[in-house]
Amino acid sequence: MITATDLSREYEALHVAKEAAFWTAYMGLTDDATAARNDLDKNEKALSAWLQAPERLAAAREALADAEKNGAPESERVALGGWVHMLKAHAIDSAEGRELAAHIIDLEGALARKRGEMNLGYTDPKSGEFVPASSVKIGTMMSANPDEAMRKAAWEGLAAIEPYVLENGYLEVVRKRNQLGRMLGGSDYYDWKVRGTEGMTKLEIFALLDELMEGTQKRHEQTLAELRAEKGDEVSRPWNFRYAISGDVTKEQDPYFPFSQSLERWGRSFAALGVEYRDSTMVLDLVDRKGKYENGFCHMPVPAWRDGDTWRPARIHFTANAIPGMVGSGKRATATLFHEGGHAAHFSNVDMPAPCFSQEFAPTSVAFAEVQSMFLDSILEDADWQARYARNEQGEPMPLELIEKGLRASQRGNASMLRAMCAICYAERAIYEIPDDELTAERVLKEIRAVEHRLLGDASSRPALSVPHLLAGESSAYYHGYVLALMGVHQTREFFEKRDGHLMDNPKIGPDLQRVYWQPGNSMRFPEFIEKLTGQRVSATALARSASRTPDEAVAEARAQLERSKEIPEFTGEIALGGTISVAHGNETIASTDDSPFETVCDKFAGWIKQQETAGA
Ligand SMILES: [Zn+2]
Repeated sequence: MITATDLSREYEALHVAKEAAFWTAYMGLTDDATAARNDLDKNEKALSAWLQAPERLAAAREALADAEKNGAPESERVALGGWVHMLKAHAIDSAEGRELAAHIIDLEGALARKRGEMNLGYTDPKSGEFVPASSVKIGTMMSANPDEAMRKAAWEGLAAIEPYVLENGYLEVVRKRNQLGRMLGGSDYYDWKVRGTEGMTKLEIFALLDELMEGTQKRHEQTLAELRAEKGDEVSRPWNFRYAISGDVTKEQDPYFPFSQSLERWGRSFAALGVEYRDSTMVLDLVDRKGKYENGFCHMPVPAWRDGDTWRPARIHFTANAIPGMVGSGKRATATLFHEGGHAAHFSNVDMPAPCFSQEFAPTSVAFAEVQSMFLDSILEDADWQARYARNEQGEPMPLELIEKGLRASQRGNASMLRAMCAICYAERAIYEIPDDELTAERVLKEIRAVEHRLLGDASSRPALSVPHLLAGESSAYYHGYVLALMGVHQTREFFEKRDGHLMDNPKIGPDLQRVYWQPGNSMRFPEFIEKLTGQRVSATALARSASRTPDEAVAEARAQLERSKEIPEFTGEIALGGTISVAHGNETIASTDDSPFETVCDKFAGWIKQQETAGA
């Protein structure tokens, strides 16, 4: 009979091999990018095959039943339970289901190829000519171009994705996904998917979203009324709204976030919060270069676990694409360190008897994982943190007026932006609820627009089917995860604020998160974690309250927070994070705590960044 140790050893070998290939391919560490990609594909397939094999799930179930019957040690029972839970998230029991799932992957691949071939862009309102543009460029035009006709053209370019994907395979994907979802016990695909990824039903998730809609409606309507009074009725149109609420202080605040100081600020803040990395090894590759993947991420090439009496620390890699010398890059680098450093703290502290509990893929809740990273990076936006830590090269603190200006700019559209995120979730749910024989392109578009008008009072600046998540298999029926994560972040913030009076430099935060949120890995569900820490059921109240504040109210709260922060002692101790931290740039190691204290690593890093800034200027 298979044992938990067999499963742990087999899995670990496959996981480590795949992650090594992943890092090489994504960081562009070899000259032969194609060979690196092929090596990754091969290792990824081997891991997937292991996870999806129905006979492995059957063997794990049998071993678990036997362990329970014969009173095996608790660690063996817990570990086998974890393996059953994980294999169940990947394996499909019935042959018919597996066949359908494989067919859906083919359909999704064809849809993704078609979508990749789409000629994205906008029709220039002056020349009438079509100008190719990426979705990022279109987004920037909509939020920053002062010419309304150009913004409208950009929005129309984005909206054109909807009929295009509907004509190119999305409807068939929806039909087959629903068939699979119902076959496997859900009311539809959405319902089946969320039971697997979040351990929650569709009903539970949307009850939370309904709560959020109720809690933000008044504020959204007030924002609309204010804007209409200021700028006229057309302000609610999708190409005007985002532009009207976007206020940007990145440039003004830039001098107070020197890139060179980002590592030290992160280390000091996390040490002050009592965050520890439990002997893990961390490699940070923060600066952009050719051949490197274009999005920041955090992976765990070696998962942490307790192997009998032996603690097996994690190995963690995280990356960003900051460009030294570019406006806003210092803040972005700092935010990345807080965010990815939060994921790293989470996964390096999982202390369970098998590695299945500490890997970041299913059945680990992505929403709950994001609560950790987003909670920690939210501290960076707080007035007390900025007043204490955000200083320019001369060591002068950011002026109070500039801190408040930033708060006002981000607060104004908060409730509305949340509702726009939720519109995507409600629209996707509505698509899967259309009966098969009524599923047409017209009907889908009608449902999407109805949701947007109900929630936003107009069409959305981000048409639902232009969001790539809805198309791809792994990210479909998932967008609500971002909203749930925000709920968790604000509930967690409110808990610490009420209990301890502050978040910045609060030394109780690290140990409490370690004990409640991090140590159990994926052995608990999202709502159970939130309730265990805060004593409250998971709810939208804290998020709705925060988003519904007027800019004046947010500033008043910040002033009170600043007043209180005078009592909070500054952290002057040694920066000891309890792990080995190396800063790398591709194959080059810039500095490492392997051979020097953290402060020295920060100095070397600062020197290297300044060199890069001069080189880039
Ligand atoms: Zn994240």
